[in-house]
Amino acid sequence: MTDLAWQVDVAVIGAGPAGCSAALWLSEMGFSVALVEKAGRLLARLDDLQLPQNWVLGAPATSTADLARQYAAHIEMQPGIRIALGETVAEAWRSRPDGWRFVTTTGRTIKAGAVIVATGLQARTFGASSGSIAPFDAQQLVRQRAGLPVGRFLLLGGGDNAVENAVYLARAGHAVTLWSRDRLRAQSYLIRQLDSLPLARLCLRIAQPMPERLVSDMTGWQVESVAYGAESFDHVAVLFGNAPDRRVLRLLAGADGAVEALPQAGVFVAGDLSGRWHPCISTAIADGVETAKQVQRWLQHELQHDRARLGSAISAPASGQQTLSLTGLRFAANVGILAHERDAPQPIEVDAELNLGPQPLAPRDDDITHVLDYRKVRQIIIDECTARHVNLLESLAGKVCARLLQLPGVQGVRVKIVKLEIFDDCAVAIRLAAGNW
Ligand SMILES: Cc1cc2nc3c(=O)[nH]c(=O)nc-3n(C[C@H](O)[C@H](O)[C@H](O)COP(=O)(O)OP(=O)(O)OC[C@H]3O[C@@H](n4cnc5c(N)ncnc54)[C@H](O)[C@@H]3O)c2cc1C
Repeated sequence: MTDLAWQVDVAVIGAGPAGCSAALWLSEMGFSVALVEKAGRLLARLDDLQLPQNWVLGAPATSTADLARQYAAHIEMQPGIRIALGETVAEAWRSRPDGWRFVTTTGRTIKAGAVIVATGLQARTFGASSGSIAPFDAQQLVRQRAGLPVGRFLLLGGGDNAVENAVYLARAGHAVTLWSRDRLRAQSYLIRQLDSLPLARLCLRIAQPMPERLVSDMTGWQVESVAYGAESFDHVAVLFGNAPDRRVLRLLAGADGAVEALPQAGVFVAGDLSGRWHPCISTAIADGVETAKQVQRWLQHELQHDRARLGSAISAPASGQQTLSLTGLRFAANVGILAHERDAPQPIEVDAELNLGPQPLAPRDDDITHVLDYRKVRQIIIDECTARHVNLLESLAGKVCARLLQLPGVQGVRVKIVKLEIFDDCAVAIRLAAGNW
């Protein structure tokens, strides 16, 4: 397989907080992921915004850009996630039983069992605008506002973005006209800040019909309206909010298909695209987690269908019962009720067998991301046994079984845990079998 042909469990389109959070959870749950981002970098919409994140729990005063860097670094070091930057989906089609196939704008092909679309929002525009430059949208304005020459500034809109920018720009010395078709919809703490601005810096036009025309040239803007006639401005921003960017969803749904998510076809949406009541970094991350869990459930359901198909062909020589075994894994763990067991870890030995059910004798390819990686199984056993002190070997065996049963494709688990040095003359072990054998 060349690097231009990827086969993964899940393709995630859009690497904002929602897409990255979904990709992270999926890879932690053992799925292979392709993360496709049309910008040249992860978290592109956040990575040069310098807004302090008092809103994000645990990150007071961290800037949006710093958060974006931390999230990107986490994704880049996460095993099991392949990242395609500067690419988007050019063609998509679904072929059962394999799932989805994509061709990206660089010619890469991606096969995936399920797809998450997390393409966020796109700014609503003003139809009657023409000329050599376009008005700022919210994102451009926040990025550039600190460096703009002071002048006459027209802000169209009445939501949080419009009012926050009006306050910022007036404080920076601009003469701001805030023009809203309806009454202001911004949060009251923002509206209150308008009262503190010098009158000469702020002109409010509230509940007024929008201008007829905005025309730009290299020197600035001519704005025409019935109520105010022809006016000149140095800068204009259109802050009409955003709408879900459904372009990739439309592509997946096909020209005649429904535009919403198609869970029955393995298509899920996450983040701002899903129409969050309050779109922000925190809700996007939470949404990524929920979507990853939905995808996990969906893939496991699909896998059961595959197994049923394979099961009906059990007499065919093409498949066999597969078991993954780890034997003699030794390390120290905090387990036991005796005083010396509470004080210090003791050596234990773990054997584990994982029933992977019927599997083709010839795997569909030779790719580690399509099988259960035994390095991950080994690490999970160590992590579960060393996370904290437990009293009973039975509890430890139960924890390990429960965790291993969550891994994709695992039907049954057998675990044996031995206390190697509990007595001078013998070892003591607990065996536990769970799930299907
Ligand atoms: C100016 C501005 C300031 C903001 N400030 C804050 C703030 O201070 N705090 C806060 O919590 N929230 C803030 N937000 C909101 C926050 O940025 C979003 O709610 C959050 O980023 C949503 O995450 P998401 O992953 O759903 O979408 P996005 O972050 O929008 O990510 C979507 C990703 O998909 C990519 N994409 C789009 N189309 C395609 C395609 N066809 N193929 C591949 N990739 C594609 C985009 O390039 C982008 O990287 C702000 C938003 C804006 C616009």
